[in-house]
Amino acid sequence: MSAVIQFSEAGRQSGDRPLRIALAGNPNCGKTTVFNAYTGARQHVGNYPGVTVDRKEGPVRHGQENVTLVDLPGTYSLTAYSQEEIVARAELASGNVQAVINVVDASALERNLLLTVQMLEMGLPVVLACNMMDEARKAGIHIDIDRLSHMLGIPVVSTVARNGEGLKEAMSEAVRLAKAGERHVLEVNYGADVNEGIMAMQAIIEREKLLPKYAARWIAVKLMEGDPELRQELRAANATAAQEMEGICRRVADHIRTAHNVSMESHITDARYGFIRGLLRDGVIRQDAGKDRLALSDKLDKVLTNAFFGPLIMLVVLYAVFQITIEIGAYPQGWVEDACGALGELFAGIIPEGDLQSLVVDGIIGGVGGVLSFAPLIVIMFALIAFMEDSGYMARIAYMMDRVFRAFGLHGASVMPYVISGGIAGGCAIPGAMATRTLRSPKEKLATLLTLPYMSCGAKLPVFLLLAAAFFGSQAPTVMVLIMLSGWVFALLVARLLRSTIIRGEATPFVMELPPYRLPTLFSVLMHCWERTWMYVKKAGTVILAISIIIWAGLTYPKLSDEEAAAFDARIEALNAQREALPEGDAARAALEEQVTRLEEEKGAAELAHSFAGRLGKLIEPVTAPAGFEWRTDIALLAGIAAKEAVVSTLGTAYSLGDVDPEDATPLESLLQATPGWSKATALSLMLFVLLYSPCFVSLVVIQREAGGWRWLFFSLFFNTALAYVVAVAAYQIGLVVWN
Ligand code: GDP
Ligand code: MG
Repeated sequence: MSAVIQFSEAGRQSGDRPLRIALAGNPNCGKTTVFNAYTGARQHVGNYPGVTVDRKEGPVRHGQENVTLVDLPGTYSLTAYSQEEIVARAELASGNVQAVINVVDASALERNLLLTVQMLEMGLPVVLACNMMDEARKAGIHIDIDRLSHMLGIPVVSTVARNGEGLKEAMSEAVRLAKAGERHVLEVNYGADVNEGIMAMQAIIEREKLLPKYAARWIAVKLMEGDPELRQELRAANATAAQEMEGICRRVADHIRTAHNVSMESHITDARYGFIRGLLRDGVIRQDAGKDRLALSDKLDKVLTNAFFGPLIMLVVLYAVFQITIEIGAYPQGWVEDACGALGELFAGIIPEGDLQSLVVDGIIGGVGGVLSFAPLIVIMFALIAFMEDSGYMARIAYMMDRVFRAFGLHGASVMPYVISGGIAGGCAIPGAMATRTLRSPKEKLATLLTLPYMSCGAKLPVFLLLAAAFFGSQAPTVMVLIMLSGWVFALLVARLLRSTIIRGEATPFVMELPPYRLPTLFSVLMHCWERTWMYVKKAGTVILAISIIIWAGLTYPKLSDEEAAAFDARIEALNAQREALPEGDAARAALEEQVTRLEEEKGAAELAHSFAGRLGKLIEPVTAPAGFEWRTDIALLAGIAAKEAVVSTLGTAYSLGDVDPEDATPLESLLQATPGWSKATALSLMLFVLLYSPCFVSLVVIQREAGGWRWLFFSLFFNTALAYVVAVAAYQIGLVVWN
């Protein structure tokens, strides 16, 4: 069934160049876990498709050998349809890969081997890593490894990626294959008619020496399958030969269609499955009676994805996530706030009063501290979200959303980009936008890209958490769930609008995959949680720090003229002198004290109003007044276009600068509650505005790149801000009526 070919350029040891070994496999077979185990990297391990679209590389040292390990995106096939398939296929066909470790889920061998067969047809040296053997054993599935290896003619190793079992052996085999440089082309039997066509084409390919970097038989099979990429490549190489071969393909395909009433593509897939079924017969797989892991998943799914209970349970789960986050997070958040307060006091004591003190205490500690105080909440929320992801529940949420999506002109595969962008809380639109590459239809991709930014990304969460806790008290978790859901509602509505106006077009079919439920490892949950928290903290220490300093400067300069400042100071001093003259406890003394405070406030307000940012804010204020935003909020929102975390940090700086008594560093939450003009209606309006308005700067750039046009950047910037404005004004006006 297989022929040996010695490729001239492949597999040859070239000095001390590292061996290039690829990891390939279906989504969710544990490939990333294997990659991390080999390279010590901490790549995102996601329990759903769409996480790894780009290939990732990492160096591995195996004995005396240097290996470059390439993690390919998960694919079921190599037909070059989706972005993942194109990326994986390009790497495998490049001729640079010297061996492949094919990770397969031992409990789903039949489906997983489809990819294996295609790689063997390409002539790639493959080691089969039968992964998740622990689960297979638990489910009572026995695999005769030696027999499978014998039947396939390739090394097969039983592995458990989670604890490293078998990984060394798999790498040894791969290194051995890579150094041997032999390539066997697997010949699947496609039936007499197709085989004949393939042979005829193979003869032409060999005669004309077409595309010598590929095995001739593989080219022929791919042409039969109707592979557009390869057809292009051939046409470019030799137009006449290509035409001749396309003629053969058409003839055979017509014959298959009339004789068997199937398309060529499904005929070929059927033949591959036939090959696999034949392979797995005769005791390669044995299943104990009465033991079945999938049965448990199926039972759980009956309830968790039930049309009625499913969404209900989902809402309860989301509510619980926020409830736990807010309840438990309040304690460590208080500690961080206290620590920032103490730090502020400390610096206020060390640094003499003046600009430098104000920069450190109000600008840096007030700004960055405000963002950092949310880090504990972020840790807790991310841990819960990571648990949902790793257990497989997140995929169920996506599955349920998928039903809704079609009605709005989006693709089922759009769900994951939304979830990654923060659909369930705490993602980021940047990887979300990159995940849209899994969408085949450019129109569906565009609609997804443009509506992604309405999700509640990790940077918006502090704004929501702050305002929900400050103005809604015990209803905060409910408010959080509602805000999150509003993001979805607006995304779907806008997508519908776009799909029926500027990006009209057909919907493409899609099957959503449900991985089995798994109890996540503590390590994996902690790792996810750490990754995201570290990103958050790092951003606070760099980007947000820089923005805080700029905002502080904008709010501090230009200063009042000397005369103006002196006038205030003279009045304050006069009042103070009067006060000193009166005895302690006198009523008149207390009244004077109050006057001094008011005057100091007035001076602070005058200073802010005179500053550059103050003037800018005041300029915009009339426009945003119907939404309930005062000028300080406007400044924060402008800063939020640079990075959404800057909304909280700017509010922190603006309000602590205006705070008369910086010494006792009040938390932002209390400052806002105490500021006249702030109410539930303002909070709601601001939350919705932040949810919907322009994406942050980096997201805009990524959207521009993925959508392939500047106009989509401007669309996101202006359309989203306009939408946010309309929604915020409506929310504020309704809120004023309802809560008064
Ligand atoms: P990928 O989609 O192929 O990259 O798969 P991942 O590496 O993201 O793994 C998916 C899930 O399977 C994660 O929750 C892993 O912890 C889990 N997993 C990976 N390998 C094994 C294994 O050998 N045994 C068990 N029980 N779970 C595994
Ligand atoms: Mg992966």
